Order: sequence, then C-alpha cells, then structure tokens
Amino acid sequence: MGLPERGRGTVGSVIDLSEARAYVLERCPAAAAAELPCRDTTGLVLAASVVAVEDVPPFANSAVDGYAVVAESVTAATKDSPVALPVVGEVAAGAFTDRVLQSGEAIRIMTGAPIPAGADAIVMVEDTNRLADGDSVAIHRSVSAGAAVRPRGDDVAAGTLLYAAGTVVTPAVAGVLASVNASIVKVVPRVRVAVLSTGDELIDDGSPLLPGQIRESNRTMMLGAVRAAGCDAIDFGIVRDDEAALESLLRTAASASDAIITSGGVSMGEYDVVKAVLSRIADMRWMQIAIKPAKPFAFGLLATGSREVPVFGLPGNPVSALVSFELLARPALLQMMGHAAVDRPLVQAVADGGLPRRPDGKVHYARVFAAFGDDGRVHVESVGAQGSHQLAATSLANAIAVLPDGDGVAPGGSVATMLLSIG
Ligand code: AMP
Ligand code: MG
Repeated sequence: MGLPERGRGTVGSVIDLSEARAYVLERCPAAAAAELPCRDTTGLVLAASVVAVEDVPPFANSAVDGYAVVAESVTAATKDSPVALPVVGEVAAGAFTDRVLQSGEAIRIMTGAPIPAGADAIVMVEDTNRLADGDSVAIHRSVSAGAAVRPRGDDVAAGTLLYAAGTVVTPAVAGVLASVNASIVKVVPRVRVAVLSTGDELIDDGSPLLPGQIRESNRTMMLGAVRAAGCDAIDFGIVRDDEAALESLLRTAASASDAIITSGGVSMGEYDVVKAVLSRIADMRWMQIAIKPAKPFAFGLLATGSREVPVFGLPGNPVSALVSFELLARPALLQMMGHAAVDRPLVQAVADGGLPRRPDGKVHYARVFAAFGDDGRVHVESVGAQGSHQLAATSLANAIAVLPDGDGVAPGGSVATMLLSIG
C-alpha cells in the first residue's frame, strides 16, 4: 500500500504540473468583494457591473479655443473676404453664460466651456483675428453646424453598461469611473501576501558572512514578485530553523494575511522544521512535480479564526523559488483577486540557437531572453547558466521556454514560451 497523496503532512509520488496547479487553484477561490475608491482600484477586478448614471460630457462644450457662432452667419467667410462679427461675451471652462447668441454675433469661448444658447458651431481661434476696436472679430473660414461642438453624452451616455463584472481596471477604466461619478466601486480586493524565508544559513543585515552563511535573496525577490502581481506584500523576515519560532511566525503571518509564501525546507525526504511545523499546524500536501527547476513544492491551508490561509511552500533554491512562484503561486494569487486570466501569455517562439536538453521525465522551464524579430515573431535565446542556484543568469530572462521531456529544440525550431515581459 502506497502513501496517501493528500492530507496532513503526506508525501506523494511525482506528479504532473497540471495536477499540482489544479490542486492549488481549487483551494484558492476569489476573495469577497469590497468597496474601494475608484482611484485605488487600478489592477483590480470589478466585482459588479458598472452602469453610467451621468452623461459625459455633462453639457455640450467647445472642443477648441475660438468663437461661438451661428454657422449660417459665417457661410461667406474666407481668408480673402472675412466676415466681421461683434463679440458680445466670453465664456471660459468652468464658467457659463446666459447670453443667448443671435445670428451675426460671436462669443469668445475656451476649450471645455459650455456652448452658449443659440450658438451651433465654434470657429477655432486660428481662423479668426480680433479687430483693432477690440469689440469685434474677423472670421476667416466658414464652419458647418456642429463644428468643434462636443455634444452632451458624446463620450458616455447615462444608462450605458460601461463594464461587466470581471473587467480588469486599467488606469483608463479608473479614469472613466471617476468621470461618471462611480467614485466608490465594488472590486475584488488586493490579496495581502506574507513573505518569509527559512534557514539558519541566511543573513540579511549586511554583516560579514560567517562560515556557512549566505545572503538571503528569495524574500527580497518574492516581495517584488508578489507586488508585481498586484498583491500587497508583507515582509515577515527570516526565521531560523527553530520549530517554536517558525510556528509562532506562521500563525502571526496567517492572522495578518490572505496568503503566505515561504521558501526553503520543502525538498523530498528532508525532514526539517518547515515540514515538521507545517505538517502539524496546516493541511499540507508535499509535492514533487515533474518539472525542472522547482521539483519540490508544498501547498496547504492554515486555519486562523474562521479563515483558511493558503500557504505556498516554495523551494529554497532561488531559481526554483521563482519558477515555482510563476507556475503555481502567481496564478493562484491572481485567481484570489478575481482574475479570469491567470497565466502569462504563451507564444510559439523561434529558438534561433536551439535549446538542447536531455530526457529525464521532466518538463524543463528554461529561462530565456525573448525579443521580436524583423519577421514579427518572438525569438528566444537561453540566458546561459540554468542551474537552480544561478539567479544572476535568470535575472536577465524576460521569458520562460517550455521544453517537454526529450532532447530539446533544434536551432531555428519552435518552442512554447511564457512571456514575463517583452519590449
Ligand atoms: P532548502 O530547500 O532549505 O534546503 O534550500 C535549498 C537551497 O536554497 C540551499 O542552498 C539554501 O541555502 C538556499 N536558500 C534557501 N532559502 C534561501 C533564501 N531565502 N535566499 C537564498 N537562498 C536560499
Ligand atoms: Mg533550508
């Protein structure tokens, strides 16, 4: 009888990434909606549709600086034979005139100012010149009715369904929300992610390295990765390989966050404090995934009060931690924030120099540099060192090529590539 694959502190056999992802995503539902000021919602997902309750613009206004006229009264105007009109008023943006314009009159008007009653067109200032008397203007060009007039509701008409639930708020969407006075909107809030690192060998205080010590890097990287995914990151520091300290920090982290990311101490066969503590206090699944890097991975739920906080146990090797985050934690965090699209864009890229590998039963996630070629396709090349401890080379990658088990990709061959960023 084999070991059970799930449950408290169990260790399973090697599984496919798809199984690990499904397990994680099933346990990371979207968070409850909250109401936030629209200016704090960029990057978040709308939890309810938005219907405009106001017209934008709220009144007909001028698209240019110029003169409001009745179009009919300037039909004869040309450069050589301008039409002179008396200027009977002036209206700036934010102001208003109740002077009703008559045919044969002009009112000086600025961009965004309300169109005076009676006027039906604006002649732009470049097509006029103010006459020496100061009281009249020469119009050099005829205009048709409606010229340079922005009608009320031209951008948004009241009653329009602007956005469906599930829409991601971009800066422009947030601007539109403000423009229709949807100043408070229902969104799935940012997930608060506690980040901590584990290991007696880690220091981060800048002091000289003692024998066996290394500088901590995963936590710094993960704080950034979590923020780049649109989450709030909370730094819980380094915890020593000490059961009581780790348990206490994990419980504090759970009560202060919606998800926890640890790194280190999840390797197969290892029985270190991370495994001991998480197996005891959380409902964990310890996984070995048929991928390279990032084979070991743990996921579980840690109960705190009435909540269950997802715990992502990333491997300690920095490159493994990053790839593990990309493939498993980031999609789950995005799902918790209500995103329907949780994966990086996947394109078929050209591996100009090839991406060789050896068969080993695993899918390899090779860190590559991707750029658009003159042929309009994405081309990739390896960033070099692919060891799971070699973060410096990986730091130059803007994409990850997916190499199925086998001999890799020959020069010029096509390779599925996850784009992290491409410019
Ligand atoms: P572990 O999974 O804890 O055995 O760690 C695997 C490797 O990753 C070891 O070489 C650790 O020293 C290294 N490592 C673990 N955590 C970190 C970290 N936060 N920053 C940098 N390296 C780490
Ligand atoms: Mg360790």
